[in-house]
Amino acid sequence: MPKRATKRGDERTPLDRDCDVLICGASFAGLTVARELAETGASVLVVDRYEVGERQTSACGIPTPWLEAMGLLGALQQTFGELVVHTPYSTVRFDLPFTFSTFDYRTLCGLLAEQGGAFEFETATVRGRSDHAVQTDRGEIRAPLIVDALGWRRVLSSRANIQPPDALLSRGLEVHPFGQGEEFEIWIDRGYVPAGYGWSFPADGELRIGVGSFDPRFHVREPTERLAADLGSERVRYQGNWIPHALRDATEDGVFFVGDSAGHCLPLTAEGIRTALYFGLACGRELRSVLEGHQSREQALARYHDFSASHDLPFRWLLRLQRLVPRVAPRLLAGVLRGIEAKRIVDWSFGHYLNIAPPSFVGPASVRPVAVVAL
Ligand SMILES: Cc1cc2nc3c(=O)[nH]c(=O)nc-3n(C[C@H](O)[C@H](O)[C@H](O)COP(=O)(O)OP(=O)(O)OC[C@H]3O[C@@H](n4cnc5c(N)ncnc54)[C@H](O)[C@@H]3O)c2cc1C
Repeated sequence: MPKRATKRGDERTPLDRDCDVLICGASFAGLTVARELAETGASVLVVDRYEVGERQTSACGIPTPWLEAMGLLGALQQTFGELVVHTPYSTVRFDLPFTFSTFDYRTLCGLLAEQGGAFEFETATVRGRSDHAVQTDRGEIRAPLIVDALGWRRVLSSRANIQPPDALLSRGLEVHPFGQGEEFEIWIDRGYVPAGYGWSFPADGELRIGVGSFDPRFHVREPTERLAADLGSERVRYQGNWIPHALRDATEDGVFFVGDSAGHCLPLTAEGIRTALYFGLACGRELRSVLEGHQSREQALARYHDFSASHDLPFRWLLRLQRLVPRVAPRLLAGVLRGIEAKRIVDWSFGHYLNIAPPSFVGPASVRPVAVVAL
């Protein structure tokens, strides 16, 4: 059982207060926004229902250049130069132009929080919002700048949220058995999931084995357990969630949405950590510019909204591929994968893929770019 650090009982004192920036959600997206607000002198409050890093939300695989650029290498567990793709008719090895790494969730969140400097943190469950006030189970918090980094539920939206299985959501579940491995592997195999893929990511003595389904109606517990059994691994320590696979509005009624709440997870690959960091930086920079008096809240909302929406094209392309791949006959798919195994093609395609949210966006460690006011 995970150790529960979240405040309970008497520790859960009433929370009724004001702050300059309220960031709801203390995972990849929320902590990155807070990081960008360090040294502004503003009162920044981050709330989450769990303590920072307490509840892992993913398999924690990311392009290594992002860990380097963000100064997060201290969380790195294992690094892989190849992506191994299994289909029923082939095993293809993509020699990548950059490496992927697995990392420790708690350590990474801790490092991000340290970079955030002097923000305050409270454990509280967010229930909803009215204008500039957010209601939690411990009381109401008021702020002129509010960020929803709460994940796929988009809790602070006032619109009627479409719920699964009708929403554009995938579902993913994984187990975390102890074990060693050297390969960063995925399975595109209808025997496990009609539309989606399975994975095994080694992480320094632990394996993260899971199955993701692009079709939210398809349950993934049985295939996850079967994949783990096929790999000779225990079915223990489950972790799963819904994953949005389409961009949503990044702002609504004066609120900034970042990460899964804004649909920032990439379709096809379900890679959502890098993009949560990327859009978290973008959002944080706009907020910083407001706090430093360079632009109004409305200008920041407009600029951040447009920045997020400007990524519509790659997201749409990946969604098209996500819908196409499951329709390709398995033997043909095996042939296509072998055809694109050539280093030149892999470098080109993965290079473009990385550039959707490039690590260069982070900027030099000592200088965090200030948003330029162009409205
Ligand atoms: C099984 C699985 C494996 C995955 N593996 C990978 C991977 O290897 N690499 C990758 O790039 N992506 C992966 N993803 C996708 C990735 O996990 C998400 O895209 C990413 O976590 C989004 O980050 P986020 O900060 O927006 O949201 P989250 O990481 O989901 O964080 C949301 C935060 O909000 C808090 N919260 C939620 N509701 C409330 C509430 N009402 N009140 C208070 N707090 C609340 C949560 O406790 C959490 O801390 C995976 C997803 C799944 C389901």
